[in-house]
Amino acid sequence: MNKIYEDTKFLIKKYGITANKKLGQNFLIDENVIDTIVNASEINSDDLVIEIGPGLGTLTEKLLLKAGKVIAIELDEKMINILKERFFLYKNFEILNEDVLKVDLNNLIKENREREALKTAKIVANLPYYITTPIIMKLLEDKIDVNSITVMIQKEVADRLTAIPGDSKSGAITYTVYYYANSKEILTVPHTSFIPEPEVESEVIKLDLMKEPRVKIKDEKKFFKLIKVAFMQRRKTLLNAVGNSNLGFSKEKLEEVLEELNIDKRVRGEALSLEQFAKISDML
Ligand code: SAM
Repeated sequence: MNKIYEDTKFLIKKYGITANKKLGQNFLIDENVIDTIVNASEINSDDLVIEIGPGLGTLTEKLLLKAGKVIAIELDEKMINILKERFFLYKNFEILNEDVLKVDLNNLIKENREREALKTAKIVANLPYYITTPIIMKLLEDKIDVNSITVMIQKEVADRLTAIPGDSKSGAITYTVYYYANSKEILTVPHTSFIPEPEVESEVIKLDLMKEPRVKIKDEKKFFKLIKVAFMQRRKTLLNAVGNSNLGFSKEKLEEVLEELNIDKRVRGEALSLEQFAKISDML
């Protein structure tokens, strides 16, 4: 058996830990997967790394050896004491006992980068799967000032995040990711790389944030609202989805716009490219 597996078993026994399913606790025990995540994130001593959900600290340990500073955000108080004891010798480690969805990440990054004179910030994590989508949406919509996001998530969600808009696998979130980032799939990870084993397959993905969004649009809020409406009823045509929604778009105006853009009126939202959504939203 490998060392990480032994270390994890030891910590679980020493601290009497039972993995909390509700908090998505599946601990990584595969050293190759951990090394792949760290290598893909391309972190160095100029980086501030934010790790979401450090758990027992298996990934954290490798991050601490490479990064200028690691701030780990963990909701489970039980893990906090373990992490404090485990990493008390590391001067570049800080732990926050918080719900990541409630943390002002931009402020945290700004303050720490200034204080520690760190050039860049990156997110690296084996995410809690029950809140993958809200976390990714928060990171993107809040325009978190980081260069990249390297995360392990459920394979099914990874496929959606890394799809090209218009692909059969795309959902509303595909457009958000594609608007802000270049995405790539790094590694598919089997159940056996964790204890306890999750029910689904996992995947490591990396999102490289672009300096400017992929398309220019007049009104971002309206643009994302239109995409949301289209995917709320994705089996319907865009016209019907907009007509049925009560979110301030006019079906008649949309009909005119589609005609002007030479787009078939029977089109479903899921068949439209990011650029087409941008044009429609600008003209509505
Ligand atoms: N990083 C560890 C590893 O790879 O072995 C643990 C990963 S485990 C999939 C997800 C971790 O996220 C757990 O430690 C869990 O307690 C933590 N977590 C769950 N919800 C959270 C939240 N809202 N904010 C911060 N951490 C959270």
